[in-house]
Amino acid sequence: IFSLLSLFINLTHPLKPDGVQRRLVGEIIRRFERKGFKLVGMKLLQASEEQLRQHYRDLREKPFYSGLVKYMSSGPIVAMVWQGLDVVKTARKMLGETNPADSLPGTIRGDYCVEVGRNVIHGSDSVESAQREISLWFKHHELFCWEECSEHWIY
Ligand code: ADP
Ligand code: MG
Repeated sequence: IFSLLSLFINLTHPLKPDGVQRRLVGEIIRRFERKGFKLVGMKLLQASEEQLRQHYRDLREKPFYSGLVKYMSSGPIVAMVWQGLDVVKTARKMLGETNPADSLPGTIRGDYCVEVGRNVIHGSDSVESAQREISLWFKHHELFCWEECSEHWIY
């Protein structure tokens, strides 16, 4: 687990298969970069159903769980870790609501999708889940520690 100064928290952030298929990777990275967050880890991968069952284990009783796991494993995703002040909370605002129909224009889900089952992007819902999810998707050496090479980050 990647842990930093108390003010800085982390987020995992897989772009879902529909986000990759719809060529939204650059657009979504751009939004987080422009906001001022630091990209500390990123990879394109096809997740196994086992990994996804772990990732979404809190939802295992839900009727959509098996469909969600199948869809998320159906093609490549982009897993990302972003760092910055209140990044988990702020990123959830940037994502919008779970259902794109409830998401305001200007949010990622509000701007780019219509179906709850194809809502383009995942964002951790708390610092604890971010830490759990980061350790599920990334090895320690795959995360880049900016603090070691630059003291000041411009927000
Ligand atoms: P979020 O991704 O906003 O944190 P949840 O953790 O509640 O939302 O659910 C995880 C994912 O499961 C959602 O992003 C969505 O893709 C899918 N999902 C949630 N609710 C439904 C639903 N009612 N029907 C189909 N898929 C759903
Ligand atoms: Mg969630």
